Amino acid sequence: MRVGIGHDTHRLVPGRPLVLGGVSIPHSRGLAGHSDADVVLHAVTDALLGAAGLGDIGDLYPDTDPVYESAASSLFVRETVIRLIQQGWRIVNLDVIIFAQEPKLGSAKQEIRRRLAELLGLDPDAVNVKAKTGEGVGSIGRAEAIGCQAVVLIDRNHEPN
Ligand code: MG
Repeated sequence: MRVGIGHDTHRLVPGRPLVLGGVSIPHSRGLAGHSDADVVLHAVTDALLGAAGLGDIGDLYPDTDPVYESAASSLFVRETVIRLIQQGWRIVNLDVIIFAQEPKLGSAKQEIRRRLAELLGLDPDAVNVKAKTGEGVGSIGRAEAIGCQAVVLIDRNHEPN
């Protein structure tokens, strides 16, 4: 078994759609970035890459590459999952914390959970999504940014399904 951790932060700016965990969230602002700036999928991609010892999202999907401009970040997750499967890894579970002062994510958490489970080929039971505000402190607490941390467990040499 191996464990991987991922983290990401993007700035909240006007004039951008807000996409978290592959789910469009109605809000007055969205996240700035080269791709769709989905901090959740970026953190999940890095957790998967980390667990398998495959580097990081910046190595594989550089933000200087025009191919990834405005790309849906689900592409990064899907390709990374395929990479792990090709190396014989199976994803066991995923745990995610989204740090956002706004918008409130209470109602979106379950939808994000289902979407993440679908992207990783997991039962929703094996995916957990938590949301925290910044308690008004720091850049996240001032709603200048949204952050995400993700932890994933993978294993190999399991019984074939
Ligand atoms: Mg990012």
